[in-house]
Amino acid sequence: MSEAGVLIDTVVLRARGVRRSFPQGTGRVEVLRGVDLAVSAGEVVTLSGPSGSGKSALFSVLCGFDEPDAGEVLILGEPMSPMVAWHVVSVLPQAMGLADELTLAENVALPLRLAPGEVAARLGDVDGRVTELLTTLQVDHLAERYPSEVSFGQQQRVALARALAIRPRLLLADEPTAHLDHEMVGAVLGLLHEAAGDGTCVLLSTHDDEVRAAADRRLRIVDGLVTEG
Ligand code: ADP
Ligand code: MG
Repeated sequence: MSEAGVLIDTVVLRARGVRRSFPQGTGRVEVLRGVDLAVSAGEVVTLSGPSGSGKSALFSVLCGFDEPDAGEVLILGEPMSPMVAWHVVSVLPQAMGLADELTLAENVALPLRLAPGEVAARLGDVDGRVTELLTTLQVDHLAERYPSEVSFGQQQRVALARALAIRPRLLLADEPTAHLDHEMVGAVLGLLHEAAGDGTCVLLSTHDDEVRAAADRRLRIVDGLVTEG
């Protein structure tokens, strides 16, 4: 079996019994009530659910930004930790989080320059990788601009390029197509499937039926639990 073939059967992300509540008024509201899920290398999986259902809260726990009250998150079988996150996981937060003082090209290059040595060693030429991603997402002509000088949709594509730059084993993307028009949604889906073809495990949240239709598998968050469908 090819290396990619071996990767396909690998569960990259597993959550078991994840619970998270937040203060509300005088009490607390439990937003995640025992979430179980597993996503494998090579899969593009969507997570849907109404606004306020806990998609972003779950992503924060899955990527290690936030700790669950109970339950566990395993990445390649290991408990989530800053070290595991640094080596394996890329995140595209809903708020995108581009660095305002860096150009778009510098934003995409940043994770390549900060990557651990063994990750950087397999990635090769930084400038080549940055140009390749910006070109695929049709923002290469904006490389020297700053985030505040481009549209939301263009920022979103740069944030995706930045998240994919290190060829992560796991990509968690929170509504990555929210600001994009139809044509760009297609380009983003193409890039996500290409990454999955290289063995990346992709979990993205979305409200968009076109994105859901293009996924390998669809998950839904209902009443604090994740179900198929
Ligand atoms: P979604 O991404 O599905 O729209 P969120 O995960 O952003 O939903 O929010 C789910 C619920 O959890 C909301 O009621 C929100 O107010 C609450 N929530 C999420 N994160 C926090 C937080 N850090 N502090 C307090 N409440 C939060
Ligand atoms: Mg959200």
